[in-house]
Amino acid sequence: MKDRRPWVIAIDGSSSSGKSSLARLLAARLGYLYIDTGAMYRAVSLYFLEQSISVHQDDMVQDALFHIDIDLRHIEGQLHTFLNDRDVSDDIRSMEVSSIVSEVAAISKVRRKLVEQQRLIGQDGGIVMDGRDIGTVVFPDADLKIFLHCELDQRVTRRYEELLAKGRDITRLEVEENLKHRDHIDSTRLDSPLTQADDAHLVDNTQLTMDQTIETCLALIAGLE
Ligand code: C5P
Repeated sequence: MKDRRPWVIAIDGSSSSGKSSLARLLAARLGYLYIDTGAMYRAVSLYFLEQSISVHQDDMVQDALFHIDIDLRHIEGQLHTFLNDRDVSDDIRSMEVSSIVSEVAAISKVRRKLVEQQRLIGQDGGIVMDGRDIGTVVFPDADLKIFLHCELDQRVTRRYEELLAKGRDITRLEVEENLKHRDHIDSTRLDSPLTQADDAHLVDNTQLTMDQTIETCLALIAGLE
């Protein structure tokens, strides 16, 4: 068999569509690296919250970006997010972070910094990366692009149950409002809006279990051979 560079697999879709779980499980099946780019935008947002930086303070945003170092490390099979050497994997999932992350991610200079880092991480292939702009902007030449769709009601239910299981004090309505808010900003922003790449495969997992979603995607991957 001809030696080939390991693939770059891009998974995009709206909030809580199941992208991260899918990307993580596919990466495990392929022996690839899994990168959750949403975690990177969340880590920048956490820094802004902790330093009381508003998205409208252009100079402070610019300055903050010089002081932010984000690292994604795989520890005992789990992806951990480090912000300036501190493990913030739990903190970045808070509702406070969720409520500002889309505004933070709409800032072009934030995106430039993170996209550059994402391209470096994935430059040798062997990666499954999930986000909003992976197939359109980060890796427009990805070997396989999957656009994961899931109806809002189903996404709200999944996210709500996930947060309840973690003991978070939250209502279903708050989760729904947050997902709608993020979907709106993510898909209408000027820089790298959430959109399906022309050559992406649409996978609707509203009625699928995670196992069925994985099987669907593995069939697409088998088509690459
Ligand atoms: O994937 P997750 O829902 O954790 O992402 C959090 C937020 O980060 C998204 O709502 C979006 O605003 C932003 N994001 C982005 N581009 C990416 C990944 C995430 O703008 N590639």
